[in-house]
Amino acid sequence: MSDTPQPIIDLRSDTVTKPSAAMRDAMARAEVGDDVYGEDPTVNRLQEIGAALVGKRAALFVPSGTAGNQLCLRAQTEPGQEVIVEGQSHIVRYELGAAAALAGVQLHWVAGRRGLMTAEQVEAAIRPNDPYSIQTALICIENTHNAGGGTVYPLATIQAIRKVASAHGLPMHLDGARLFNAVVASGVSAAEYAQHFDTVTFCLSKGLGAPAGSLIATDDRLRLERLRRFRRMYGGAMRQAGILAAAGLYALAHNIQRLADDHAHARQLAARLQQIPGISIDPDTVDTNILFFDVVDAQWSAKEFVAALKPHGLLLNAVGARSCRAVTHLDVPAEAIEQAAGKIARVLDR
Ligand SMILES: *Cc1c(COP(=O)(O)O)cnc(C)c1O
Repeated sequence: MSDTPQPIIDLRSDTVTKPSAAMRDAMARAEVGDDVYGEDPTVNRLQEIGAALVGKRAALFVPSGTAGNQLCLRAQTEPGQEVIVEGQSHIVRYELGAAAALAGVQLHWVAGRRGLMTAEQVEAAIRPNDPYSIQTALICIENTHNAGGGTVYPLATIQAIRKVASAHGLPMHLDGARLFNAVVASGVSAAEYAQHFDTVTFCLSKGLGAPAGSLIATDDRLRLERLRRFRRMYGGAMRQAGILAAAGLYALAHNIQRLADDHAHARQLAARLQQIPGISIDPDTVDTNILFFDVVDAQWSAKEFVAALKPHGLLLNAVGARSCRAVTHLDVPAEAIEQAAGKIARVLDR
């Protein structure tokens, strides 16, 4: 018999979250002004609160996480220089070559373990100061690491990388699109992470539930002014952006602590999937809200498997020949986890 109608369970990404009624209400009531003149009070408040939350002096509201990363690359490098990044990082894989196209920099890939680099690897990637070598300009870290499986960077590793960076006079950028997932999972505060970086970006969309927007935080006035100029040059300066900033303020006030639920749901899903024949998953690799598993049953490719689940009302992403990704988020209620596992078991059983 067919299932009783159930809402679609969308585990493709935490980017699919939609603003709640209360968030929309805050957006509708937002006081606004022209932010290019610095006159949007809601944007100004979001920038102050966001900066304070990560222990920095100032922040800049930008339309997306990609904009945040690319502005930080552009503002802290010169064309022809090199940036050290992990090989599977968002900057390498999912920003359409913007580092080369817009900042004119070369990316030096370091192969991390589940996305995490060591200080030794970073040090080895720094170019020597000689007439033939490209100049290293910046080191980027992604926390949590998306393609690594929502991996949380140990604070000690970040401290060790900072030591290397400081010894070489290099700035550090944190791609903290999911910084608050790392904070909630580890108990390390955002400021404790952020103090080791010259620039920090974090998304207000994704798991925090705002419809759009990221913040770049920094301590340095000159850097901030450079970031602001490039934001305008890149087309990312907005006018009455307070409507979006109000959603960001709501997200920071209400949706950080609840990320713990998403992490618990991801662990529950991993534990359930481990019991299903035809699925291979290591629950110990689930740090936060992202989980990867393999379809081992030879009759399925990941792509076919994901397509077969769709009519059952379960959406996932195929990320490799056999590998699928599921992401938990605030629009996935607790009861959807067991339902999702049931759908996966039923499709494999066929
Ligand atoms: C999603 C993401 C971004 C980019 O955010 P957009 O708002 O989609 O541009 C950057 N870094 C990481 C690690 C991400 O997961």
